[in-house]
Formats: sequence, C-alpha cells, structure tokens
Amino acid sequence: MSDVYAKPLPPIDGLNAPFWAGARAGKLMLQRCLDCAQYRFPASRYCPSCLGERSEWQATSGQGMVVSYCGFHKAYWPSFAGDVPYDVVQVRLKEGVQLFSNLVDVPRERIKIGMKVRAHFDAVTDAVTLVRFKP
Ligand SMILES: [Zn+2]
Repeated sequence: MSDVYAKPLPPIDGLNAPFWAGARAGKLMLQRCLDCAQYRFPASRYCPSCLGERSEWQATSGQGMVVSYCGFHKAYWPSFAGDVPYDVVQVRLKEGVQLFSNLVDVPRERIKIGMKVRAHFDAVTDAVTLVRFKP
C-alpha cells in the first residue's frame, strides 16, 4: 500500500461507496434489487431489469470466470508506461454480473477464456482497494 500510487483512481460516491468499503474489508459487495433479485454492477439508482428503486448490498462469493480479455500495448496514462503490455480481463461473477479487472500472478500466455477466478483485494492506497482476480 502506498499513497504515491500514480494511476487513476475510481471516484467514490454515495452510490458506490458500499462496493469500495467492501473491497477494503476483503469482500466483493454487489447491489441487489429487492424487487426482482437481480444483482447489478456498476451501482445504479434504478434496477436495469425492472426499474425498481429498492436495493440492498450483499457480499458475494467473489468467484467468477474470464469471459474475455485483451492486451494493452499503449499507455493511455503516463503512469501505465512501465506496465505495457498489460492485460485487462472481463470476468463474469457467479452472481451474473460482469466487470473489468486484471489478473494477478498470471502470465499473459496463460490467460484463457473460461478460466475460473476468485476475487483478490489489492490495497493501492489507504482509501482504495482494487478488486482484481486470481485463478
Ligand atoms: Zn429489479
């Protein structure tokens, strides 16, 4: 953990704060609709399935599967210059939602679609813990 982390950080607001608080505590929290029970990500005021406004936050399994990935060969931010090429994966969680992240400790030639992964919590600053994934 460091306060000199130079990469872009997520904006944390009243809507998504439970997700980031969960990550800091080592839990992958998702918003779930109280009307139709669908999980959703990113956080939103209304359910994209039924437009319901009532929701709660639940800790999830943190388990999922890589459904897509790509390699970045250009540093779109100077702070990523030392990382190129780096890989971004799309993970579908058991709860059905998909999110973009990175894998930890997986050489790029070993990334496979269908690879089962589990959430890994990477505290990059005192305030922000990123959710990454490990096999
Ligand atoms: Zn709903």
